[in-house]
Amino acid sequence: MQKNNNFSNILLQENPSNVLRCSFEGGRIAQTYLFVGRQSVGRRAVAKAFSALLQCKHPVKDENGKYDSCGICEDCMRVANNSHPDIRYIIPYGNEIKIDQVRELQNLAVLKPSMGTWQIFIIDPAEKLNLSSSNALLKTLEEAPAHSLFILLASDTGAVLPTILSRSEIVRFNSPSHQQVRKILQSKYNMTQEEAASCYSLSEGNFGQSIVMAEDFEYDSEILDISSSHKNYLVKLQKFANKIENDFSLVNNLEEALKKSWELQNINFQPLLEARKALCRSLFMNTGLPKAFPLLFSQEIIDSIDSASAYIKKSLDPLLSENKKSYPTAVLKDIETQISSATAKWGSDQLEKLFFCLMNWYTDALLMASNADETLLLNLDRKEDIIIVARVEGISLLRSRIDLLEKSINLLRRYIQPLLILENVITQIGGAEA
Ligand SMILES: [Zn+2]
Repeated sequence: MQKNNNFSNILLQENPSNVLRCSFEGGRIAQTYLFVGRQSVGRRAVAKAFSALLQCKHPVKDENGKYDSCGICEDCMRVANNSHPDIRYIIPYGNEIKIDQVRELQNLAVLKPSMGTWQIFIIDPAEKLNLSSSNALLKTLEEAPAHSLFILLASDTGAVLPTILSRSEIVRFNSPSHQQVRKILQSKYNMTQEEAASCYSLSEGNFGQSIVMAEDFEYDSEILDISSSHKNYLVKLQKFANKIENDFSLVNNLEEALKKSWELQNINFQPLLEARKALCRSLFMNTGLPKAFPLLFSQEIIDSIDSASAYIKKSLDPLLSENKKSYPTAVLKDIETQISSATAKWGSDQLEKLFFCLMNWYTDALLMASNADETLLLNLDRKEDIIIVARVEGISLLRSRIDLLEKSINLLRRYIQPLLILENVITQIGGAEA
């Protein structure tokens, strides 16, 4: 079934939706919007709903008298399956949105829309514009014809140049609480309290991700010991790599492969999320690991991550050699380098996500130790575990654990030896037997 992209499906973002729908109704549409809000709260979904409304041939009014897209015209259908020729997403290639990408946008912005009413450009996220691409964008905004419209997504207003900010209409997004999200999962997806808590905790507090997962969520409450959870994590890493290989085998050309490899960071795989959660839980529960464990354990994790990311990269080799003749050498080389860094990034993300997951366990324990309300817990489905650790470890030790994990994530981002960082974390929190 085709997913509908109208405003009626937007969850927990009524305010920003209303601002946009009112400006549509009043014919006061700005040319540049800056959507400000945390990642995964629905900025992309609202951008899509707004684009659909703008392009729709027959906008309709809902029961509250507010405008929405019809969902059935050609434009709406195209928006729904991401093939509308007049809506374009500009995402970072690598760590930034490059000036070439903005120049291409500049050339397109002057053209008349080919089927819709507007030429729409969604820049996601705007913090990835570097100085030169920001300046090029500013120039584009200044010279843009009346039919072009730009939606910039950012986590805060400081993410864009003041000169861009001053040209933008700012639309602010809410940050829903853990409890609000769990309630939505229960009511919208018919989940029990336990299922909703489990689904949300697997997303590590990422609202959008939990909604995507909720579509075909399979609840599993099994608890694994440290060595089975460790083994299971290694197995699921490779399974994830196999799934990506499978996705890549459907790709037809190198541009598509490149785009897909940069999008790897946003793909979810429930079995790996479960395995990660279980592994971090057993570390968190801290039952006294064998002495040689930290080194061995860390080495195996790093090796598995490396081999999974090498496997993903290798799955594109046939496509690269097939296309050798149809691309200039320099272009091919550039694409190859970019694919390598995208797959390497996928690997380093895995370790960062592991630390982040572990940090969420300790943050929950700190909340419990500080007598906070239990609805503030992310891992509410494992409340009993959290209470135990909170009692045993106490506020100051929990603070130092969180501190250690924050520092470790920062070191990882600075490309310090991942094995050493991981081993240090496991040794310090793993409670090795003397
Ligand atoms: Zn329509």
